[in-house]
Amino acid sequence: MTTHDEPNPYESALTQLHAAAEILHLDSGVLGGLRKPHREFTVNFPVEMDDGSVRTFTGYRVQHNDARGPYKGGIRYSAHVSLDEVRALAMWMTWKCAIVNLPYGGAKGGVIVDPAELSDCELENLSRRFISELEPIIGPDRDIPAPDMGTNSRVMAWMMDTYSMAHGHTVRAVVTGKPVQIGGSEGRFEATGRGVLFATEEIAKRRGDSLDELRVAVQGFGQVGSVAARLLHESGARVVTVSDAAGGYYNGNGLDIPALIARADERGMIQGDPPGADRISNAEVIEIDCDYLIPAAIENVILESNADRIEAGVIVEAANGPTTPAAEAILLDRGRTIVPDVLANAGGVSVSYMEWVQDLQSFFWEEDEVNQRLARIMRKAFAQVWDSAEARGLSLRDAANVLGVERVVSATELRGIFP
Ligand code: GLU
Repeated sequence: MTTHDEPNPYESALTQLHAAAEILHLDSGVLGGLRKPHREFTVNFPVEMDDGSVRTFTGYRVQHNDARGPYKGGIRYSAHVSLDEVRALAMWMTWKCAIVNLPYGGAKGGVIVDPAELSDCELENLSRRFISELEPIIGPDRDIPAPDMGTNSRVMAWMMDTYSMAHGHTVRAVVTGKPVQIGGSEGRFEATGRGVLFATEEIAKRRGDSLDELRVAVQGFGQVGSVAARLLHESGARVVTVSDAAGGYYNGNGLDIPALIARADERGMIQGDPPGADRISNAEVIEIDCDYLIPAAIENVILESNADRIEAGVIVEAANGPTTPAAEAILLDRGRTIVPDVLANAGGVSVSYMEWVQDLQSFFWEEDEVNQRLARIMRKAFAQVWDSAEARGLSLRDAANVLGVERVVSATELRGIFP
C-alpha cells in the first residue's frame, strides 16, 4: 500500500539502485535507462460476477528490463496493488534474476483485487480475462508470469490454458509455477522457502552460528513462510514465532510447526487455538527476542519506526521489500546483518527457470535434481555476494545489487543501442 504514511516501494527500489550506481560509478545515461521500466501496461477490464453484475478491475504488467533475456516475474492479486508497487517489484526481479545468473530480465504484474472476496468462478474469470489482456506482450520468449502474493498454481493453470486457447496449441512455457500434472516442475511449490533455508544456512555458516542453536521468527505463513518455517524446523532450528495476517504465535522452546501447518488454510491463516502457543501481536512478531528474523509476507514491515527495537541479529528477507532503506541504515548501524530479498528469495524464480527449461524441452526432472540445482544456484550466488561484500566493505544488499546491476549493464553494453 502506498499511502502518505507508508513508504513508496518504488522510491525504496530507486534508493537502492542509486546506492549501487554510486559504488559502480555508473554513467548518468546508463543509470537513467535503469531507473524507469522499459514498458508499463495498464488494463481496465470487466468481469461478470456470480450475481450477474459486472465489475471493472485494474491490472498492471510492468516490464523493467530485458537486456539479459525474456522478462520474468510473478502476478500479484491484492487490494493494495499500485503501479509504483509493481514498478518496484519489476525492478527487483531484474536484479534478482541477474544475481542468481538466470537468462532473464525482470517484470511484475498485479491486479487490484482481494482474491478472498471472489468465488472460484469469479477468480477464474478474472484470471482468464487478465491474461488475455496481457496476450500481446507475454509469451515463452517474451515475458513469463508466475505466482506471487494472492495467486497460486491453480491460477497459473487457468492462465496457461487461456493463452494456449488463443494460440491453438498448448504453450506450457508461457507461465511457471503450474501444477506438475500440466508442465509444472517438481520442487517449484517449495522453491522459495527452500531457497530461504539455503540462504539462512549460508549466512549461519559464515557467522559461525549452528542452526540447531538458533531461535528463529518467521513473519507470514503463506507459500513462502510456512515452507521456510518447516524446513528450518526440520533442520533443527527452534522456530519460536510464526504469524499470519491476524497476529503471531510464540513459544520460547520452539513451536510445533507441522501442527501449525496442519491448521493453516490456503491463504496461510492459522485456524483455531493451537496448543502450546501464546498469542502475540503482529508488531511484537517483528520485535521478538530471537536470533534470526525472517519476514516472509509483504513489503514495508521493517520501518524507521521499529528498526531500533528489532532484537534479531540477522534478517533474512523472504518477502520482497520488507525493509525500507531508512530502516536498513538504522539496522546496519546497530550491527545487524540483512540477507537481502533479491538474494534470499531467489529460489522461487530459480526453479521457475528450471520449469521453463523443462517445458521447452518436454523433458521433466526428478525433485532431487531440481533441489540439487537450486542448492548450487543459491550457494554460488550467496558466495559471490558475500565475497564481494567482504572485499569491498559493502552491506550484503549493496553487494548483491552491485552484482546484479553490473551484469545488466554489461549485457546492455554488449548488445548496444538499436538502431
Ligand atoms: N513471485 C516470485 C518472486 O517474487 C517468483 C517469480 C517467478 O517465479 O517468476 O520472486
